[in-house]
Amino acid sequence: MQRLVILGGGTAGTVVANKLRAVLGRHELHITVVDRDDAHHYQPGYLFMPFGIYNTSDIVRSRHKFITDGVDLVLTEIDRVDPTYKTVHLADGRTLSYDVLVVATGVAPRPDATPGMQGSEWGNSIHEFYSLDGAQKLTEAMRRFRGGRLVVHITEMPIKCPVAPMEFTFLADDWLRKHRIRDRTDLTYVTPLDGAFTKPVASRELATALTDRQVGLETDFAVESIDNDAKELVGFDGRRIGFDLLVTVPLNMGPDYIARSGMGDELNLVPCDQHTMASLAHPDVFVLGDGGTLQTSKAGSVAHFSAEVFVANFLATFRGQPATHGFDGHANCFIESGNGKGMLLDFNYATEPFTGEFPLPVVGPFKLLKETRLNHLGKLAFRWVYWNLLLPGRPIPLPGAMSLAGKRVEDDVSAAATGMPTAVAPASPTPTRPAPVTKPARPRLETKPLVTTSAKPAAGAPARKAGAPVPAYESRTAVNSTADPAVILPDPIIPKF
Ligand SMILES: Cc1cc2nc3c(=O)[nH]c(=O)nc-3n(C[C@H](O)[C@H](O)[C@H](O)COP(=O)(O)OP(=O)(O)OC[C@H]3O[C@@H](n4cnc5c(N)ncnc54)[C@H](O)[C@@H]3O)c2cc1C
Repeated sequence: MQRLVILGGGTAGTVVANKLRAVLGRHELHITVVDRDDAHHYQPGYLFMPFGIYNTSDIVRSRHKFITDGVDLVLTEIDRVDPTYKTVHLADGRTLSYDVLVVATGVAPRPDATPGMQGSEWGNSIHEFYSLDGAQKLTEAMRRFRGGRLVVHITEMPIKCPVAPMEFTFLADDWLRKHRIRDRTDLTYVTPLDGAFTKPVASRELATALTDRQVGLETDFAVESIDNDAKELVGFDGRRIGFDLLVTVPLNMGPDYIARSGMGDELNLVPCDQHTMASLAHPDVFVLGDGGTLQTSKAGSVAHFSAEVFVANFLATFRGQPATHGFDGHANCFIESGNGKGMLLDFNYATEPFTGEFPLPVVGPFKLLKETRLNHLGKLAFRWVYWNLLLPGRPIPLPGAMSLAGKRVEDDVSAAATGMPTAVAPASPTPTRPAPVTKPARPRLETKPLVTTSAKPAAGAPARKAGAPVPAYESRTAVNSTADPAVILPDPIIPKF
């Protein structure tokens, strides 16, 4: 009997276990899921907690209740994988052998990776909402906030749900207005990207949404450290951004066991085929969800769509047939925009997010990249869909592969056509004599004076290590699955989405 071991009982791992168990009996395939605990978090719910919309009981459920009978659930920490001997070593000393391994352990925020992030202000004026604990503490901080400089910040890309910090900004704007302290608050969005988002049309639409809300936009900001005494973000280029309340998204990384197993890149992401999700180094290892190097969003929708492709191919191979399914990078994300409205993104490897209707032309009913009440209701309904349809592996009335139907495809997505700032070649400081990095004059997207202090002369600005300044948007029509991941992802901490 074949043995399938699934590492991680989050979104992707649960979907795969349930879908396969529904088709293959226990006598045909032995399925084991390993996770560290029995608490399954609906992570999109973290976003709503600081605004009092959800509380912990809305987003945490018992993990084992969502994993079907006939699947072994092992609750312990994963220590390491030995791909040569096809074994998984668990922290409690047990060893699991596998024929096929699914790595679905996702990514997690790592505030320890940025100097000063976990300094004296951590939990006081520095917060994050990418973990349950962080979202709970931020809920208290928002209640205490009486106005001042509120900075929403992304440390480095890629992060899971790359629109979540933007959503937080929109919700914060709405919340501050309702609490009548918006006029006493400077709200600034600080990103390492060269625009509000990574693709021209989405970037244009989202920058407009920030403009409408009088939110300052600080782009190309590569954080070097956080000065707790001065309460400032310090950039590698010398810029300093002051805050009274900092809501940061720390570096997102795969778990350390990936590094101990020698399977990942510097962010502990496992390089994988863009269409089959097979590890490029180990063909009997598949990486689903956030933990791989798929050049699409790290999102629950991607975990779900790619898991469906994996299951179809697994079943074909199991029955001695060729695996014919290929994942197209489809991602579908609602963007909560506050005031009871939301937007929607739908895209894949080959097609960037466009405006239009979804899923049907003209009738929609959802609007792409446009704020509507229905998009907001779709976002809220997703929680029900997640617990009741997606996790149990039941069919969802959403096509796994992306469709162009309803999309208003813009031929010219160049910087000029979309109003994006012209990309500027990054200055590269030399290690021996760090040169001041002056931000070149160019069209800016912010609508009001930023709360940043003026860029300091960066005499002491150290050379940036990984992830140099974000390069220009590169049009890409497809991905080459067989290429070396270093070629696919020239710099893996720069997102293509
Ligand atoms: C604030 C926020 C908002 C989001 N909003 C959206 C949204 O609106 N739409 C959307 O589609 N997606 C959203 N996402 C992203 C979505 O939640 C993730 O993309 C999705 O959960 C990824 O699934 P996964 O299976 O790869 O990883 P996860 O669901 O994170 O599961 C990984 C599992 O592995 C386990 N694990 C990790 N390491 C170990 C170890 N060493 N030993 C044992 N177990 C381990 C963890 O406990 C976890 O259960 C959001 C995420 C966040 C943080």
